[in-house]
Amino acid sequence: MHFSHAPLIENRTDADCIILPCFQLEKGIEPLTPYFAKEIEALLESGDFLAKEGEVTTLYLDLEKEKRLVLLGCGKKEECSLESWRRAIASAVKLARQKKWKALNIYTPSEEGAASAITEGVFLTHYTFDALKCDTLKKEAKALLESVCLVGISEEVFKKCQRAFLITESVNFTRDLVNGNADDITPQKLASVARELAASYPVLETTVMGKEEMKKEGLGLILAVNRSSVRDPALITVKYQGNPNSNTYTAIVGKGITYDTGGLNLKPRGSMETMKDDMSGAGSVLGTLKAVASLKLPVNIIGVIPSTENSIGSNSYKPGDVYKSYSGKTVEIADTDAEGRLVLADAISYLEAHYPVSHIIDLATLTGGVVVALGEHVTGLFSNNQGLADALTTSGEKVYERVWRLPLYDEYKESLKSSIADIKNAGDRKASAINGALFIQEFVKKETPWAHLDIAGTAYLSTPHGYHTTPATGVGVRLLVEYFSQNGS
Ligand SMILES: [Zn+2]
Repeated sequence: MHFSHAPLIENRTDADCIILPCFQLEKGIEPLTPYFAKEIEALLESGDFLAKEGEVTTLYLDLEKEKRLVLLGCGKKEECSLESWRRAIASAVKLARQKKWKALNIYTPSEEGAASAITEGVFLTHYTFDALKCDTLKKEAKALLESVCLVGISEEVFKKCQRAFLITESVNFTRDLVNGNADDITPQKLASVARELAASYPVLETTVMGKEEMKKEGLGLILAVNRSSVRDPALITVKYQGNPNSNTYTAIVGKGITYDTGGLNLKPRGSMETMKDDMSGAGSVLGTLKAVASLKLPVNIIGVIPSTENSIGSNSYKPGDVYKSYSGKTVEIADTDAEGRLVLADAISYLEAHYPVSHIIDLATLTGGVVVALGEHVTGLFSNNQGLADALTTSGEKVYERVWRLPLYDEYKESLKSSIADIKNAGDRKASAINGALFIQEFVKKETPWAHLDIAGTAYLSTPHGYHTTPATGVGVRLLVEYFSQNGS
């Protein structure tokens, strides 16, 4: 991909088309530049193009550098947000790919926020996942853009756009992991991806703990979940030290269940088909570290991924039995399908025992309950710390990976009480997203600011839309990169 800019419209490169954003007016439209006033005069008179958000119309002309002028509707100017730019440009990129155009000139607003949002919209929409298609379809999917030139922006603004481009590459890297087959994206594969990241970015340090060491260390909950899997579990740690003046780390912990059958509490048809997505938290942790390393952010981060399949078999861990966690607390298994909180619990206790951690943020496709509560547009946020919750909320608004805080009230803990162990891993069905978060909280040190992001609804879409062209969204990467850019660690 050749990604460039041209400050002056006269200096733009040759392309298949130029995209001209236009705002919707009470009467008529307002193009972002009057440069093509003559060319669009007849179209304006016709009243055929209203510039509604995402509306596109192609004019075939003999322009100096292109043969096509694509008018792109951006809606009303006063309502045009950063997200409007991302969504609107998605329509133009989809049109370009459908027509197999290779080179785009995009007339771009000169303001850095809008220009970056356009960049994000272009490269998130441009993502495809064709690894599992036949060769013919793969070739078709290869009808990808080869060059994108942002027209009308300064060198300084283009630098911000290049930054946005790097971040989208990390989102797309995460999307690849989540869209991939569960039989390919195994705990061992996640470990090798983490090692490859460290090879590409020497600032990253990866270590992987295998099954034998877990036994020695007593990571009993991860081992319980792993019992009937033919694949070993892995506890993957990736350290990034971008701020040598600090010796503490913000930990980002990602649930890495590479396939979730539910275990002996087997999931029914309709609930299992998407369960390769149960490692989305792990994917987002790796994507965030890739982005942070490529942007060289001055922060210290430790990424931790407890990974295993939750399979079913004669050796499966059993509902009603009690297993001992790394922390020493014993857990009665009320539901083998509530396995994510088990592996997170062990990972978090191990993390706090071995590393100087200042904050913990975990990401997990944890509960169906959060999908019922918030659907696919908002991530559930739980936190024991107002400042951390506010910072994540602000970052989420900015990048439009929005989070909504739900409570951790003590009353809900009642249903996690066990008569034979220290705690149960699931309560009744009511408030299941809150119960999941409360269980994890039991394994976080009281004084550590902690946030839990339940991405069960937002990580994998039932119907892809806008700039999300496949089910996997890569949610969490842009949110955390924004959080670390604003808050350090
Ligand atoms: Zn489960």
